[in-house]
Amino acid sequence: MRVIHSHRHAGHDGGFELHRGELVPCFETPTRVVHILRALERAEMPVEAPREFSVDALLRVHDAGFVEFLRNAHAQWRAHGRSGSMLPSGFPARGLRRDRIPAGINGMMGHYAFDAGTPIVEGTWDAALSSAQVALTAAALVAEGERSTYALCRPPGHHAGRSTYGGYCFLNNAALAAQELRDRGFGRVAVLDVDYHHGNGTQEIFYTRGDVLFVSIHGTPDTEYPYFLGYADERGIDAGEGFTRNFPLPAGSGWEGYRAALAEALEEIAQFGADALVVSLGVDTFEGDPISSFKLAGRHFPLIGAMIAALLLPTVLVQEGGYAAEEIGENVLGILEAF
Ligand SMILES: [Zn+2]
Repeated sequence: MRVIHSHRHAGHDGGFELHRGELVPCFETPTRVVHILRALERAEMPVEAPREFSVDALLRVHDAGFVEFLRNAHAQWRAHGRSGSMLPSGFPARGLRRDRIPAGINGMMGHYAFDAGTPIVEGTWDAALSSAQVALTAAALVAEGERSTYALCRPPGHHAGRSTYGGYCFLNNAALAAQELRDRGFGRVAVLDVDYHHGNGTQEIFYTRGDVLFVSIHGTPDTEYPYFLGYADERGIDAGEGFTRNFPLPAGSGWEGYRAALAEALEEIAQFGADALVVSLGVDTFEGDPISSFKLAGRHFPLIGAMIAALLLPTVLVQEGGYAAEEIGENVLGILEAF
């Protein structure tokens, strides 16, 4: 399996985030990648740099004004004499205007963000762009005949919507990979999201489309982040009706419940008649994860990999979450080796 990764990820190091009411050091750190790279090295899996894709490639799934905001946000912050990381503190909730984007950086940040856990620093844009290029390259390789590829993306992407960022995500790497596969000849593409958290951004991007199936297994939004999307009754609308499928599980779920949901999710993908698959690969379902509450053990990840691989589809695996840094490498490798 070919592995794509960019060292430019390291430019994004947010420092602090607002997490459940407290300002704490970021869980999403460059160290996560260091542990994954070590595991890949032990497995003798070489890492390749991504190809260059222009900013225009992002506009297939993202809003132009949003991309422009991400690109310039920190420069605007600095122009106001600020430095360090940017976190929003006001949002256009019910009763407030979303149709008008404020000109000032604080209002603009609140307009585009949906949480205060996703800091932007000077290197964030370049890291997010390189992460998107990693996913696009991995998808291009599959379109050119590779059976499966692994996009070691950082920052992750599945919470980023058409014009929103949050949940440590800025650009939606998995959605970009799925769109690349569509544009390069695969008629029906499925996205399987196995991260602990619902892939709200990916769901939003494809919600009205019947050519991309979105299936997600995650902690129930009744108690788990991102709280406001990911329920079982969300099934898609218009041409997308019936092409979104959510499997929310209670916090504390273990392997038996997870395995049953995964089997049903895979059946859904087989029924859809997918020609290619994108996996939003989060390993924060691990029992030792500091911000999640499933009880999967290390030995379960090779089983998950084997079940997904049995679909026998051309597959792009895109790295999402996983915050138990010490174990993230082995858990990811457990899935990759099954392919
Ligand atoms: Zn997650």
